[in-house]
Amino acid sequence: MAVRVCPLEDIVPGAGVAALVGGEQVAIFRLDDESVHAVGNRDPFSNANVLSRGIVGDLKSELVVASPVYKQHFNLLTGRCIEDASARIPVYAARVEEGWVVVEPRRQVATTCCYCGVGCGVVATAHKHGVFSVKGDPAHPANHGRLCTKGAALHLSTDKGARLLYPEVRGERKTWDEALEHAAGEFRRIIAAHGPDAVAFYISGQLLTEDYYVFNKLAKGLVGTNNVDTNSRLCMSSAVAGYKQSLGADAPPCSYEDIDAADLILIAGSNTAFAHPILYRRIEDARAKSPGLKLVVIDPRATVTARAADLHLALKPGTDIALFNAMLHVLRREGFFAPSFLDKHTENFEELQPLLDFWTPEKAAEVCELPVESIVEAARLFGGAKAALSLYCQGLNQSASGTWKNCALINLHLATGQIGRPGAGPFSLTGQPNAMGGREVGGMANLLSAHRDLSNPADRAEVAKLWGIKTVPDKPGKTAVEMFEAIGRGEIKAVWIACTNPAQSMPDANAVRKALSAAEFVVVQEAFRDAETCDYADVLLPAASWGEKEGTVTNSERRISRVRAAVQPPGEARTDWRIAVDFARRFSAAGEKLFPFRNPEQIFDEHRETTRGRDLDITGLSYAVLDRDGPQQWPYPEGAGSGRVRLYADGVFPTPSGRARFVATEYMPPAEEPDGQFPIRLTTGRLRDQWHSMTRTGLVARLFSHSPEPEIIVAESDLQKNGLSNLALVRVTSRRGSLVMKIRASDDMRPGDAFIAMHWGGRFMGGAGTNALTVPAIDPYSKQPELKHAAVRIEPFAARWRGAFAAIATPELQRAAGAWLTRFDYAALTLAEGPEILLRLELATAGDPDSKALAELEKLFGQPPVTGAAAFERAVCACFKVDESQIRAAVAAGATLARLQKDLKCGTNCGSCVPELRRLAAA
Ligand code: SF4
Repeated sequence: MAVRVCPLEDIVPGAGVAALVGGEQVAIFRLDDESVHAVGNRDPFSNANVLSRGIVGDLKSELVVASPVYKQHFNLLTGRCIEDASARIPVYAARVEEGWVVVEPRRQVATTCCYCGVGCGVVATAHKHGVFSVKGDPAHPANHGRLCTKGAALHLSTDKGARLLYPEVRGERKTWDEALEHAAGEFRRIIAAHGPDAVAFYISGQLLTEDYYVFNKLAKGLVGTNNVDTNSRLCMSSAVAGYKQSLGADAPPCSYEDIDAADLILIAGSNTAFAHPILYRRIEDARAKSPGLKLVVIDPRATVTARAADLHLALKPGTDIALFNAMLHVLRREGFFAPSFLDKHTENFEELQPLLDFWTPEKAAEVCELPVESIVEAARLFGGAKAALSLYCQGLNQSASGTWKNCALINLHLATGQIGRPGAGPFSLTGQPNAMGGREVGGMANLLSAHRDLSNPADRAEVAKLWGIKTVPDKPGKTAVEMFEAIGRGEIKAVWIACTNPAQSMPDANAVRKALSAAEFVVVQEAFRDAETCDYADVLLPAASWGEKEGTVTNSERRISRVRAAVQPPGEARTDWRIAVDFARRFSAAGEKLFPFRNPEQIFDEHRETTRGRDLDITGLSYAVLDRDGPQQWPYPEGAGSGRVRLYADGVFPTPSGRARFVATEYMPPAEEPDGQFPIRLTTGRLRDQWHSMTRTGLVARLFSHSPEPEIIVAESDLQKNGLSNLALVRVTSRRGSLVMKIRASDDMRPGDAFIAMHWGGRFMGGAGTNALTVPAIDPYSKQPELKHAAVRIEPFAARWRGAFAAIATPELQRAAGAWLTRFDYAALTLAEGPEILLRLELATAGDPDSKALAELEKLFGQPPVTGAAAFERAVCACFKVDESQIRAAVAAGATLARLQKDLKCGTNCGSCVPELRRLAAA
């Protein structure tokens, strides 16, 4: 409700007054032209409510108020501090009505973070210019008020300059009607000539459940193809296939509260401290409360998570199955099996016997390159635990044998009865915010609504009945890697890509780019105009993004949360579900009947009905229940007062026999082993402060400070063996592509292994990014690609010229600079936070540089390059920009973690850096 503050004439022209609006102190200024402006009254530097006493005026063509305390200037339209770009004050909508000054209070909206599968609740505060600030939602059970670095910077990633604002057809602005008519016409034309399987939809685990539902129905129910798959295929499909093979359903059995009840946590293939930071903080809290809680980490790298473990098994990449089989061998040998659970609740154990006999700890030690004692100790810790909880992620999933890696770990739980009890069970950590919601609606090539199976005729018939159509096509659709291969071969001629960036995120990215170039028709539905995939679009459709959408998402623990809009989408951007519905109605006359939805709640209600009687039954849920009672776990059938915290407590599993199944998991090496030509084993993974292909996080300077630029990380011995120095430029080559980047030695790495963060793409470096190197080999069951393992070689790169341009960052400059990345042998683009946010473009050439190109860049950046090599200081604490060298110096002088927090403030805001601080303080 707008607040009438005072008559305009009560304010002296050119001066301000303070008022209370919605309980907040607001400084209101009347300018000489009779306009009014309102901002927060608090000066963030002095913490005093004084801005109403500041002087208003022009500074470098910006309308500002100067604080009367330390004299910082704040833009009255945006709230940005002119002297320190990281500081902002709130801006309020203010106007004059009938001679009175009227101010709109800020709106607070409870929603959900759009990044990882922890699914944290966020309270967004919005004003007329967009989301102004975010904080963790104390009422949300996933995070209890905490946010990690990424979540805490959500409001900094909403720059409209980075957004797609209007529909375009081949680069020309069009109306929505024109763009959608064109797309519908092209889809109809291609289907008429080649059949419905000549088109495909490639969607995203970042879509909301309602968006996903509509796309799935559009492909399978209206267009008539099962060619609908998602980037969740790159993320969780091995976990899904593992659950289904072992337990009978795609249903993570555990909850976050099991962390508090476990006395052993085994983390496999996950740097949880970086990939799921808020969950990791819960683990830290649990350890602090229960000193007996043991942490075992299985990871080739000595990550921050691994270094905090009681036992770290730094196994050879890809050998997890050998390790799990050997642990099972020890559990049997040492009497840790639970015979009663095994007899009553499992089957197929006999199929495992030959594997168990073969995989002695000695044999596994050879294959995994681990000490025998570590394998035995890990098994004893697991077997001796009252409640053993396994947390696992892409280290198991992104593998050509990912399904069996999951099953081999689940075998440990079944043999010891560590499932269905508080603190016990296998618990996959979902990568994306709504990978689970996508599976719930069946939004993948092999699934149907509510965990139904496309290959099951009865399931197809049920879905056809629910949708009111004759049949659902029975031919399996193409999964992600298969889909882009089919596009490359010309079998799929048109593809609709929504909310994902396959030109960067798919393995063998050069081949994917080639396929997209060759496709007859490509629609890209996207929020951010610089996503690499936009370059291949015939039709670009501007989509709403976080803070602008209504719907639901499901996190790792089966918890459904509401996502709420705080602001309107910019320009002509539309919500994803609405774009799909608008297209469906144009595509065919049946579209109107099949897609009668007027809002996302109607879609949720239809989806809910498809779950009736299924394992994920949510017939007791509604938007009203979620709004009243907050996020809820499934199943939540009609009549239930709450969702189910833990599955399988009764020992009954959703298999035909009701028993969980042991799977005979044979060890298979990665698809591409190192050899003489490509001797280094490359693995990929996440950075702490970036998300996926950086379309959103790549807009926030703060999120670059922890890892500012692409680099390949190797063991010190490998650096020396190749005669390289730290931060030298190297060329990294696999059978599929080649990239030039900096090399850095780290004692995190095993000799012979290398690591590159998965996020770097063609917007921040020369070439197609990390995935130019990765392998498109897929798991036979889950069809998930092996993004974690590739063989590469590393060679020195001799630069004849090296230099860097820098200027104040804008989305326009970032876009223009990005166009130069492919014109140099080495290029890296980064943002640096300081008094001003700087865009920095570092370049190198093997030969003489193109002087014309340098002159054009000098014009673009407004100054000549600084020549020579450059290195960034890495900030451990992104919130307060505290560099690693500062922390090391303080620790050398005797600082403890508490002292570091007190003196340097590091780790006192979002807390994502606390695990690293703890490690540095203990060094
Ligand atoms: Fe978002 Fe961080 Fe929470 Fe993940 S852990 S949901 S990225 S705030």
